[in-house]
Amino acid sequence: MRRLQSDRFDLIVIGGGITGAGISLDAASRGLRVALLEKSDFASGTSSKSTKLIHGGLRYLENLHLALTYEACVERQLLLRLAPHLVEPFPFLIPNYRGFLQKQKLSAGLWLYDLMASLQGVTFHRALSRDEVIRFAPLIERNRLSGGFIYYDCKTDDSRLTLEVIKCGARYGALPINYVEVVEILRERRLATGVKAVDRLTGEIFEVGARSIASATGAWTDAVHKLDDSQAKPMIRPSKGAHLVLPREKLRLETAVLVPSATEDGRFIFAVPWYGEVLLGTTDTDYTGSLDNIPVTNEDVAYLIAATNRLFPEAKITTEDVISSFAGVRPLIDSPGASTTRISREHSTFESPSGVIFVAGGKLTTYRRMAQEVTDRIISRLGLKEAKRCSTERILLSGVELGETADRLRAQAIEDCKAQGLEEDVALSLLTSFGKDYQAILKIIDEDRNLSRRIIGGLPHIRAEVVYACRFELAAKVEDILRRRTRLALLAGNRLARAIEDTAELMGKELDWDRNQIKSEANVYKETVGMLQTADRRG
Ligand SMILES: Cc1cc2nc3c(=O)[nH]c(=O)nc-3n(C[C@H](O)[C@H](O)[C@H](O)COP(=O)(O)OP(=O)(O)OC[C@H]3O[C@@H](n4cnc5c(N)ncnc54)[C@H](O)[C@@H]3O)c2cc1C
Repeated sequence: MRRLQSDRFDLIVIGGGITGAGISLDAASRGLRVALLEKSDFASGTSSKSTKLIHGGLRYLENLHLALTYEACVERQLLLRLAPHLVEPFPFLIPNYRGFLQKQKLSAGLWLYDLMASLQGVTFHRALSRDEVIRFAPLIERNRLSGGFIYYDCKTDDSRLTLEVIKCGARYGALPINYVEVVEILRERRLATGVKAVDRLTGEIFEVGARSIASATGAWTDAVHKLDDSQAKPMIRPSKGAHLVLPREKLRLETAVLVPSATEDGRFIFAVPWYGEVLLGTTDTDYTGSLDNIPVTNEDVAYLIAATNRLFPEAKITTEDVISSFAGVRPLIDSPGASTTRISREHSTFESPSGVIFVAGGKLTTYRRMAQEVTDRIISRLGLKEAKRCSTERILLSGVELGETADRLRAQAIEDCKAQGLEEDVALSLLTSFGKDYQAILKIIDEDRNLSRRIIGGLPHIRAEVVYACRFELAAKVEDILRRRTRLALLAGNRLARAIEDTAELMGKELDWDRNQIKSEANVYKETVGMLQTADRRG
């Protein structure tokens, strides 16, 4: 915090979601002095609430958004190389019913999709017989089922990806700070020269000077634009997307499945096996409520369950089965008259008269490309002729290389963890979350063997991760750990309650909380997050 107040930066990035994270890494790796300011926790906005796909977006082909699909396919292949521990290729099943989908149209779309992936090691789609579809999804509706297709995309953990990009930026010298809200854009002779900010943990107000400012505030873009120009017109059309987490054994899926919505809106919902359960989403509706607390309504739940039960009638899903739910807001660039489903997912950048660069829209998948565009613009604005060219297409996020090296690292991690008494699922979970830095977790266990215990029995996260998150990932609240450093809040169901106090105790030791604060931090999570949000309906 002292460095934030005393240094003068080349660039302040406002917003610690995936877009801001990407910009801070790109700019820092080109030699700029960067501060990244996030008003809440990193990835607490949309970047922890996506469907967690690193994908070209097959659906966008239907709307003929060819450039977006192509760009996203290229980025997907790149991310597979840059973060193979976090980006996992996965099969996606599209069932075909007689009289429902046009098989030829779908097949043509899938060929185009494969070609757009630039043939870079992608497994091509293929047609499936009826029996094969049933083998992949035994509970699927069989009436009129004629076969289907399988194609390949990738899945990830969005908040972990954001954190890994932020930490990678910090290794290049960027200064990321969470719980610091920008409340004013400072100006001299009409040009932006820095920001006034509030430390939301202490209430302290201070100024930070910089030669340039980038806003990567997603759905909050209009609010930050107003800080810069009180006359600014709104440009974001927030569209809410809700998800449910369901027990995997209820759906018995071997692949992800595209589930047609049960209403006649023509949408598809993804059912994606994720961390041992199934992630189901999403809805797509206009949203005008608070961006800081986005509810999952009964209608959202009913819409998602109806689609699931129509495709998997034997599963007989009810609200009782819902382990957790969450909703995020797409920062779509408004296009008057269009439905939210048809508005382009492409991003938009613009510069305000005071010189602040705004970027919004886009996808998790394309964050690196957006970051490159913004950083190029900042470098040219500042006239930094000596700045390096973008190299993020070569920067491994957590030191893990694809292919044989990744396989060797996997075997090594299992062996190292075994030596510490950790089981294989824990080793693999540590590798997924931290890449090569799993070693840092093992060092923490050396300090105290008790830290090797699981936070919740049956789930692979261990107590040393809480300590690591406080030391190296700026976790400041119980929620930061349970929702974004780990995904226990989404996966643990009614077992979560047991983890809250233990997490607060461990954080208290690291962050010097007294007994009162430990108790109140646990209560804040239980009361504010655990009870008010439907996200923890079983938690
Ligand atoms: C339901 C849904 C599903 C999606 N699924 C996918 C998917 O599967 N694959 C994919 O590629 N994309 C997906 N997306 C899109 C993707 O998630 C978003 O494009 C991406 O996460 C946006 O990231 P961001 O950093 O721009 O915004 P955010 O993650 O929202 O980050 C903006 C940050 O700015 C901070 N902020 C705001 N105001 C201030 C201030 N004054 N001072 C400091 N900080 C501030 C906020 O707290 C927030 O953390 C999905 C989106 C939604 C809504």
